[in-house]
Amino acid sequence: MSDLNVVNAASLARVPDNGAARRGRSQGELGVIADGAIAIRDGLIAAVGRTDSILRDWGDDGVPTIDATGMTVLPGLIECHSHPLFAFHRHGEYTRRLAGASLQEIAAAGGGILATVKTTRDAADGELLDGLRSAYDRILAGGVTTLEVKSGYGLTEGTELHQLELLERSRSMTPMSLVISFLGAHVVPAGLDAETCTGQVLEMLPKVIEQGLASFHDVTCERGLFTPGQASAMFERSRELGIPTRAHADAWQYSEGWRTSVRGGAVSAEHLTYTPDDEIREVGATDTVAVLLPQAELIYMTERRANARLLIEQQVPLAIATDYCSSIHATSLATTIGIAAPWFRITPAEAIVGATLNAAYALNLHSDRGSLDPGKRGDLTILSGPHPDELCMSVGQSVVAEVVIAGEPLLGENRVSRRA
Ligand SMILES: [Zn+2]
Repeated sequence: MSDLNVVNAASLARVPDNGAARRGRSQGELGVIADGAIAIRDGLIAAVGRTDSILRDWGDDGVPTIDATGMTVLPGLIECHSHPLFAFHRHGEYTRRLAGASLQEIAAAGGGILATVKTTRDAADGELLDGLRSAYDRILAGGVTTLEVKSGYGLTEGTELHQLELLERSRSMTPMSLVISFLGAHVVPAGLDAETCTGQVLEMLPKVIEQGLASFHDVTCERGLFTPGQASAMFERSRELGIPTRAHADAWQYSEGWRTSVRGGAVSAEHLTYTPDDEIREVGATDTVAVLLPQAELIYMTERRANARLLIEQQVPLAIATDYCSSIHATSLATTIGIAAPWFRITPAEAIVGATLNAAYALNLHSDRGSLDPGKRGDLTILSGPHPDELCMSVGQSVVAEVVIAGEPLLGENRVSRRA
């Protein structure tokens, strides 16, 4: 737990937490302070304001200080959807897809998620942990301070519990905070029908809860995988057992996934690429956070994009995530924010709120992160440009100058100047 001052920021985006996830017009309110500064003490935010007032009240001698002249300070970015635990690289099948093969043809040839399940089940722990370490380093460099990670490439009780254990062990490999989700219902394993698979997941659930490592049960509601009825059964059992839920919904086809997730009380529902406008209007305002994944739509070449604007208009809180997985090797949430704005025709500010405060709500972590409010953890992402909107004009460029977790700068001496 560290002390740190950051001063002279061209822009400091507080993204103030007013007690609820941002929606509607407030989705895009960053609360930018020009010539901003922040004081962190014992790892927690002590004060935020203009540089002159922070230096007057908190400019003690000897406090490590970052001079952020010409830079932008954001709340630490929060990645709320990733699948980093896998062995196998599916570049071969992606090349076939780009040449015109359908998902069904890939699956029939032994590819797709089930191919990753097989190789991940067979992989040695050391190989999987090495893969996690490497992914974590790249995700951190992309500006992330808190990362959600899922099981789901095991699908049997033994392999799923083991993957959750490996994710827990991997905490020591990174300064990022990890939030672990159990994704036993990722896809339906070969040789099983969805109903039998649902039954198996329902049987695994008490053991996952007893193991005590997963913060969420991640449920899939997708045509061809799990029906709304099967997903609802998983939501209901989770509620009885007291584990919060999130969902993979409408990623590949219209599947009633959004409606089912909201009815099931999911904290978030993710993808929503094929959710029809009528369903978004009928469901209307909700606390369930819609987590949109622009890089998944880009790489999967989906025929539709999630209707971000309509979700915002309907008072649905929006979050943005990267979906790092065996078929999407994107690791930079900063880049994903940059893509999200033109991809969904949302403003840079709406996308940034989606990767900070609303992502914190999507992980039930809003009480201690997601905004630069006094009392929250001193997590910052510092960008090299003078205004947050620049993030969307430099897609794929190295814009993350520094990442701070609980007051500790992590990316190295050369990125920013410091003075003792
Ligand atoms: Zn996913």
